[in-house]
Amino acid sequence: MVKPFVPQLVYVEPRALDYPLGRKLARRFQDMGIEIRETTSHNQIRNFPGENHFQRYRLAKSTLVIGVRKTLKFDTSKPSAEYAIPFATGCMGHCHYCYLQTTMGSKPYIRTYVNVEEILDAAEAYMRERAPEITRFEASCTSDIVGIDHLTHTLKHAIEYFGQSTYGRLRFVTKFAHVDHLLDARHNGKSRFRFSVNDDYVIKFFEPGTSRLDERIEAAVKVAEAGYPLGFIVAPIYLHEGWKAGYREMFEKLEATLPAHARKDLTFEFIQHRFTKPAKRVIQKNYPMTKLELNESRRMWKWGRYGIGKYVYKTEEQEEIKDTLKRYLKTYFPEARLDYFT
Ligand code: SF4
Repeated sequence: MVKPFVPQLVYVEPRALDYPLGRKLARRFQDMGIEIRETTSHNQIRNFPGENHFQRYRLAKSTLVIGVRKTLKFDTSKPSAEYAIPFATGCMGHCHYCYLQTTMGSKPYIRTYVNVEEILDAAEAYMRERAPEITRFEASCTSDIVGIDHLTHTLKHAIEYFGQSTYGRLRFVTKFAHVDHLLDARHNGKSRFRFSVNDDYVIKFFEPGTSRLDERIEAAVKVAEAGYPLGFIVAPIYLHEGWKAGYREMFEKLEATLPAHARKDLTFEFIQHRFTKPAKRVIQKNYPMTKLELNESRRMWKWGRYGIGKYVYKTEEQEEIKDTLKRYLKTYFPEARLDYFT
């Protein structure tokens, strides 16, 4: 069982201490006896102690930087939402395939932003622009926000903020089961709480440092009982020997556990495994023993965002994945909605 995250090392940017949350967090980590260092900017954090790359990388992944979000211009976040809302970056999990390998390969530490009110004000402006259309904000584009929220309560604050909003909705996804502090948040049904799930093979070999499937499902039941709209992201859908049986078992487990009322407003998102060349380099450096299949010749090349091409499954394999998972969804959760398959 993965314990709730506690950083091994904390950096504080001086400007963060201008905010009540920055001061509170710094004090809290000091009281916990965690080493705290000052840094003028997270960009200055380069040399993590350690005898080799693996030790340095592991320490970086358990380092938390308390900082201030400077740019308040939000990225778009298709297909799951209109905008990405930036509360944190980085993650303490060690999923081999993680998308952060591409976007944050050289900065694997976690940053949490303490100017939460400014970030929410910026969200308000985006909502006003689109009103009376609903604007959805995705809080998990650059981190597993739930996994660090027991320390910061930033997400909890945002859930309550959107709970009061007329035109805003919040969405986030996690592989961690540490959700207890979020159960009493006044969400008013405006935040969709999603869990990232996969079959046993993928979780066992590629998702070290995250909660196991049974723990995630147990947490999903708690979240459903707290009245949150619930969702599951099956990602990355990965082909391996026995994948059809593996994904069927996953659906069976979900079906056997979820309370009836949660199925009425339940969403699924399906995302196939893909990788980029830069990500492959980082993955092979950080997890050289990985079993993850990253052979370009077995994939199909596709244009990606920012001009970086990605390697996806070949057309026939994609069709087979789509047919199989859609069939499972229809069998086990006929009332659920599939938001997208990509
Ligand atoms: Fe990446 Fe999510 Fe795994 Fe964290 S839990 S390492 S964000 S895939």
